[in-house]
Amino acid sequence: TDPAGAYGRYCKPGLVARLGALGLDVTYERAEGDYLWYQSGGRLQRVLDFVGGYGTTLFGHYHPDLVAGARRQLDARVPVFAQASCRSGAAELAEALCDRLGDFVVTFVNSGTEAVEAALKHAHLERPRPVVWAVKGGFHGKTLGAVQLTWSQRGMFSGMGPRVRYLDPDDPADWEAARAEVADVSAAVVEVVAGEGGVRPRPAAFLRWLADTCRDAGVPLVVDEIQTGMGRTGTFLASEAFGLEPDYLCLGKALGGGMAKIGAMLVRRERYVEAFSVLHSSTFAEDDPTCRIGLEALRVLDRDDLPGRCAARGEFLRRELRDVQARYPNQIADVRGLGLMTGLELRAQSDSPSQIIRAASEQGLLGYFGAAYLLHVHSLRVMPTLSQPLTLRVQPSAYVSEADLARFVRGVEGLCKVLRAADAGRLVDF
Ligand code: PMP
Repeated sequence: TDPAGAYGRYCKPGLVARLGALGLDVTYERAEGDYLWYQSGGRLQRVLDFVGGYGTTLFGHYHPDLVAGARRQLDARVPVFAQASCRSGAAELAEALCDRLGDFVVTFVNSGTEAVEAALKHAHLERPRPVVWAVKGGFHGKTLGAVQLTWSQRGMFSGMGPRVRYLDPDDPADWEAARAEVADVSAAVVEVVAGEGGVRPRPAAFLRWLADTCRDAGVPLVVDEIQTGMGRTGTFLASEAFGLEPDYLCLGKALGGGMAKIGAMLVRRERYVEAFSVLHSSTFAEDDPTCRIGLEALRVLDRDDLPGRCAARGEFLRRELRDVQARYPNQIADVRGLGLMTGLELRAQSDSPSQIIRAASEQGLLGYFGAAYLLHVHSLRVMPTLSQPLTLRVQPSAYVSEADLARFVRGVEGLCKVLRAADAGRLVDF
């Protein structure tokens, strides 16, 4: 069998051609903790996985307590599809979220992008206005509504959803210009740390301005914590570290413990429009097993202090990476992040003596070449962020060991050496 061939033929023709050209067309067979395994030369090759399911596997792959919980539910024949009834799993998970976040009404959904869709719809009911504010470089999903807010992807679909005014988070003059139209704004949607936009914490002054402006004008502030939430950045919400109080909150990814697909859109009770509870629903949303996996994830998060672990391990990782950056300033442009959400920005190699490396850099492929090198030479899995291809996302689980982080740092140093030596042979020919 040839899974890459079939996947390319029947599922993702364009993507597989690209993965193949880069040497990234690997099929993983097994996953546990921070590791993935694939077949290579007749045996299973173990890879340290720092893509982390694009931020989903905060608990690692197959956390034993979450597996045991899921198993208990299968054995107990817990109902999955009992729509239009009063669902206990959803109720308990929503209550657990409100216990820690305040008084919200919680809409459970199936994905991050659906959480954003739900927020846009609710905002339209609450405050029907033509414009939505989003932030340059932001990423909020790829369905037709959410993609309008996704800076790098919206182009060919613009006009098929809400009209979006993008704010430049680094330009106070732009904020002031935008303020003039705030009466036309239905909602403002923001990430505290732009994940796919290159792991960039948003400037505190911008977030403060946005929160104040929204509060004064009555515009709901929608904070997208789909990637940053659940302790990833060192606090349960990244908002806490910036003193932000969301009116609406989007959660996803790690909420399902890396085992289940679940998102949530929370609206402060005083803003909630009751009609919304029938205006937004989905066949697959709110099922008991999924919600109970989310509940177990919250329990494990508290018991094992995942936010604390993320803060400590993240600091260790960035300190070590900055050490490498100091020795290779022409290969690493920046190391940034919060908690266990780290961006490692490579420097463009437009002056490399190697024509191949120069070309890769000019084509925006250097990050992908780097990822392929790290995979095949060091058994490390990273990927560029979706909108900033020079920035490698480094998102291990909260349980990652310092030894594994150190192993990753050694791999990065290997990549820097190859780039400095302009040794294209070693970069692309594994
Ligand atoms: N918002 C943010 C901040 C995200 O990082 C993502 C996914 N990378 C999404 C929304 C979309 O989530 P999903 O892929 O589950 O639709």
